[in-house]
Amino acid sequence: SMQYDVARIREDFPILSRDVYGKPLVYLDNGATTQKPRCVVDAIVNEYYSVNANVHRGVHFLSQQATELHEAARETVRRFINARSTREIVFTRGTTESINLVASSFVAGQMKPGDEVIVSQMEHHSNIVPWQLQAERSGIVIRVIPIDDRGELMEDALEQLFTPRTKLVSVAHVSNVLGTVNPVERIVARAHAHGVPVLVDGAQAVPHQPVDVQKLDADFYVFSGHKVYGPTGIGVLYGKEEWLDRLPPYQGGGEMIHTVSFSGTTFAELPLKFEAGTPDYVGTTALARALDYVSTIGMDRIAAYEHELTQYALQRLSEIPDMHIFGNPSHREGVISFQVGNIHPLDLGTLLDRLGIAIRTGHHCAEPLMHRLGVEGTARASFGLYNTKAEIDYLVEGIQRVAKMF
Ligand code: PMP
Repeated sequence: SMQYDVARIREDFPILSRDVYGKPLVYLDNGATTQKPRCVVDAIVNEYYSVNANVHRGVHFLSQQATELHEAARETVRRFINARSTREIVFTRGTTESINLVASSFVAGQMKPGDEVIVSQMEHHSNIVPWQLQAERSGIVIRVIPIDDRGELMEDALEQLFTPRTKLVSVAHVSNVLGTVNPVERIVARAHAHGVPVLVDGAQAVPHQPVDVQKLDADFYVFSGHKVYGPTGIGVLYGKEEWLDRLPPYQGGGEMIHTVSFSGTTFAELPLKFEAGTPDYVGTTALARALDYVSTIGMDRIAAYEHELTQYALQRLSEIPDMHIFGNPSHREGVISFQVGNIHPLDLGTLLDRLGIAIRTGHHCAEPLMHRLGVEGTARASFGLYNTKAEIDYLVEGIQRVAKMF
């Protein structure tokens, strides 16, 4: 196959050639959000300039063209994650909204006070707080899968958490802090053996590896467009049709109805039942363009390239004195949380920033995981398809320079 031409790929991302503080930008905060290739931004501009019209409701030409683009985007998403049908692809604002949707509709439709949902100790707040809101409102109970010292889910402990009242398991595919790749297929199989469906938070998986929802057999799978080189404000909820059919709507409004009268309203077919209001139809087109972009490079090749990059980074970082890397080095996506001696992560991040290096510091929206790790926060470097070994060398030099100041 073709050589992975990272220099060529970088040319597609205008922002990567800018400076910060007179230094070339080294962007290592892809776990927070990714940069956008020109084709994605062009898709946004072109649709606003030449197609813009509201979807699903107009008889006129532009509305039909906008609807075609929007529904073609749904098909692109379906193909990208290998869903059976576009009826299973619901557009949302992102991972957070997708999880809130499931939490709200699943609890309303399927759970009674005292029923249980299982999440893990390494979840992002967006897979914790929606369940806590439901716990307060509806009396459901949250059970937590612990993690071991290597940052891996304790599968035996998970087995113990199932009770006759367990109604759902909701876990991250990949940790946004540790990069841990959770054994989602096994977790799904275990849960299904108990008759329990599974929601997978794929926010940190979809950008980095091929995802096949049928192979995983996940009942719900969610991700954000902005983390996979698409625009902000658009995301995806995949749900098996049998589940989405059963669940009540999330928000009410236009688009999601079949007929409305004051004596009663009937709801639209899937997936529109879950898409109240005017959707971000430009965002969906641009998301599809982003998925086309990564598909053209090849998710397998991106995964292989990022794996090599991550292994290189782990090796180079571990050469730094007093470096502590959190999590399991051998089994992870391109997310590395670390601590250098007793340098506060915020100081490290601030000083690296002055060198043009963008990393993330803090609790990474995973405070329960920070408690488990026994830290307040970490520094985190997270890679994307355009990062290079030279950038990792620069990061390592930067950390060494900062360490000398302490
Ligand atoms: N889950 C995980 C694992 C994440 O990394 C993130 C983003 N940091 C989210 C959920 C939330 O995504 P968003 O803010 O795009 O809704």
